[in-house]
Amino acid sequence: MKKREFKTESKRVLDLMINSIYTNKEIFLRELISNASDAIDKLYYLSLTDKKMKVNRNDLKIRIDVDKDNRTITITDNGCGMTEKELENNLGVIAESGSLHFKEENKDQSDVNVIGQFGVGFYSAFMVSDKVTVESKSYLDEPATIWESSGVEGYTLSPSTKKEVGTVITLHIKEDTEDYNYSDLLTEYKIRDIVKKYSDYISYPIMMEVENSRKKEDSDEYETYKEVVTINSMVPLWKKDKKKIKNEEYNNFYTDKFYDYEEPLKVMHFNMEGSVNFTALLYIPSHAPYDYYSKEYEKGLQLYTNGVLIMDKCHDLLPDYFSFVKGVIDTEDIPLNISRETLQEDKNLKLIAKSIESRIKKELLELLDKDREKYEEFYKAFGMGLKFGIYNDYGMNKDKLQDLVMFYSSKEEKLVTLKEYVSRMKKDDENIYYACGESISKVSMLPQVERIKDSHEVLYLTEYVDEFAVMTLHEFDGKHFVNVSSESTDLSTEEEKEHIKKENTDNKDMLEKMKEVLEGEVSDVRFTSKLKNHPVCLTTEGEVSTSMEKVINAMPTDEKIKANMVLEINVSHKISDKLKELYKKDKDEFVKYTKVIYFEARLIEGLPIDNPTEMSNLMCDIMAK
Ligand code: ADP
Repeated sequence: MKKREFKTESKRVLDLMINSIYTNKEIFLRELISNASDAIDKLYYLSLTDKKMKVNRNDLKIRIDVDKDNRTITITDNGCGMTEKELENNLGVIAESGSLHFKEENKDQSDVNVIGQFGVGFYSAFMVSDKVTVESKSYLDEPATIWESSGVEGYTLSPSTKKEVGTVITLHIKEDTEDYNYSDLLTEYKIRDIVKKYSDYISYPIMMEVENSRKKEDSDEYETYKEVVTINSMVPLWKKDKKKIKNEEYNNFYTDKFYDYEEPLKVMHFNMEGSVNFTALLYIPSHAPYDYYSKEYEKGLQLYTNGVLIMDKCHDLLPDYFSFVKGVIDTEDIPLNISRETLQEDKNLKLIAKSIESRIKKELLELLDKDREKYEEFYKAFGMGLKFGIYNDYGMNKDKLQDLVMFYSSKEEKLVTLKEYVSRMKKDDENIYYACGESISKVSMLPQVERIKDSHEVLYLTEYVDEFAVMTLHEFDGKHFVNVSSESTDLSTEEEKEHIKKENTDNKDMLEKMKEVLEGEVSDVRFTSKLKNHPVCLTTEGEVSTSMEKVINAMPTDEKIKANMVLEINVSHKISDKLKELYKKDKDEFVKYTKVIYFEARLIEGLPIDNPTEMSNLMCDIMAK
């Protein structure tokens, strides 16, 4: 017998399980049945491609045995089984199926959430057992092994004489406590109830010996007898009649299958008939998975054909911008043993993907229309992906996505769609105005915004992809997007314009001098009437805005870009007079002021300052005067 210790993470999860206050302990059975079913799926799928393996689909099953006297529940399957090495790797270490998100920050969360996030599977057996035994024989020709553990101390491995391929898991059920009646789990009624609730759809029979009664022959008396019956209906949820499915069933199926601890935001269950036939059960999650915006996240839908799971995450069924969708597709129109590569080229698969995409879009638009609050919840979780969708692939999909995106509006003070913005525009307005910054409050304080928002609605773009998306869209409903920080947003009256023109000509030398002092940092310095209370701002000329400069320069490439910036000074601010005065009287001081003003303008724009020490020294010089 070999003794082993659990890996650190596993120990922590096990500890959580053993001392769990999680009330929904009965889910252990769902987890074990689901593992058994996966193992059978695997064996069957292998047998489709390997003719040497003789597997008859009708023989595949799961069996549950309850022994009240010895307080055990046994779950037997004839799936692929595990070798000694696999037992050690799969059960000694917390499952690698993306569950390793057990970070320090989770410590304070309730264990409900932690369990949910893991989909912790096998270890949930320890919520109800004080000892778990797993006896398994792999389909690979290797001797069988017994794995056994009574908790965090570790586990043992010993040889077994098991001949049939498959796995037998024996749970030694805990003694009753004040908080939980574990003995209840040892009743036929309870087991059937749990199976019905969580595992009814499992596509293999779940067998159990039950007690029945019948009338004795030639007598009025009844006798009890035992028989083995199938306790699940085996009809997958998506094959059931929509009208007969309760919300709870949809939700349970989702949380179980896709390891989410929260109920989905939306369920879509539909059949398609036509050039290709399929059934879809799709879900929109209510929150983004922890790894959603990372490279680790893998999109895809489960693909079943003729009742067999042929792919767990079929990427090609979902476009990237809808990668948040989870679910199942079942079709008879795709060959059973098909490789990933040939699948990609499959005409029917492409048709299915196309129809799924338009369905998802339709449902989202409907949600936007009918349940704004829910849509906003969705958008907060997944909106960024939609905006990337507009920008990616050279804007190829922008028309499909432009009605789904929202931005914060200065006027409504909430998220609005582009359609809503345009519907509020005044008759002669040509432009959709937007401004960029790190947060709503920062954008609203931008000098350029302050002035324009009195007369025009401004969209606040706070995520770095936003401006790229807007630039890719270029226009919406014939109206062009205009950054309020660009030179083209001058809403001054003719009179004001005349006045500014004169100011700029009269002070040409001074403004030239300022540009010289700033040594190529800005392409121009000029007076403006665009600003209300603020002394200065930076605007941009040309294609590249300051926020784009920020984003691109933060990327890990050598490519650096520079926005063409113009330093604008509020002509009606006292600082303008001060500058004029200094230019005449004190050239040294004038240089200092110019630099400080420029630094300030950068700070307001959220741009970095290369030499903060110089800035502080200059300010102190001025203050000490
Ligand atoms: P998950 O199912 O999320 O991967 P589990 O902790 O439930 O995590 O299981 C870990 C692994 O152990 C599974 O991925 C599978 O490889 C293996 N396993 C569990 N139960 C069985 C079984 N009954 N038959 C074969 N392999 C199993």
